[in-house]
Amino acid sequence: PLDKIPTWREENKSNEKEDGKEQTGGGGLSEKVSLYKGDITVLEVDAIVNAANSSLLGGGGVDGCIHKAAGSCLYDECYSLNGCETGKAKITCGYDLPARYVIHTVGPIARGHVGTSETDDLTSCYQNSLRLLKEHGLSTVAFPCISTGIYGFPNEPAAEIALNTVKSWIEENPDKITRVIFCVFLETDFNIYKKKMSVIFQDN
Ligand code: ADP
Repeated sequence: PLDKIPTWREENKSNEKEDGKEQTGGGGLSEKVSLYKGDITVLEVDAIVNAANSSLLGGGGVDGCIHKAAGSCLYDECYSLNGCETGKAKITCGYDLPARYVIHTVGPIARGHVGTSETDDLTSCYQNSLRLLKEHGLSTVAFPCISTGIYGFPNEPAAEIALNTVKSWIEENPDKITRVIFCVFLETDFNIYKKKMSVIFQDN
């Protein structure tokens, strides 16, 4: 369950005490984000985000894992959606998943290249997913590292985009979202996120 996953702030509390600068007050950004390494399909959140392809009919990687865990009703609902454009997002039920909903977003096919269109499309994936979350009155969400697998978006810039886009969104929509989990699967991503989060989500 979600209360078993520490927030970024909780994870960094011990360091804070050592620094002798204990933080007070609530509502800090670091209280609303978590870094979690593992399978996104086990997370009990309002919505998990799927790094889908434009057909929305399943595939490899995280997409395949989500369809497998959710069951064939997810395929049926996705079939009725007529696909999804790159950078856009569509929402379905979660079926057999512990998550109530799945937000399917289609990341750019980067193949190692990070130009303006790849950057804009990946930013849109996060923004449009968060917009759907808001429109459905949901408050907790988990993101995988969109586009960084089969689609070949380099891990560092992808993490930078994920973290900064979520940060801006939370700042602009402070009331609604209570937790965003960055669900990494690989050790390399875990290390990248850890390093960047301590810069991007420090509250002072
Ligand atoms: P894309 O086609 O958008 O590149 P992939 O599924 O190939 O999507 O990869 C996106 C990220 O999802 C990669 O970091 C991959 O390691 C990770 N991943 C694969 N399976 C899972 C899973 N079950 N839970 C969370 N992340 C996963």
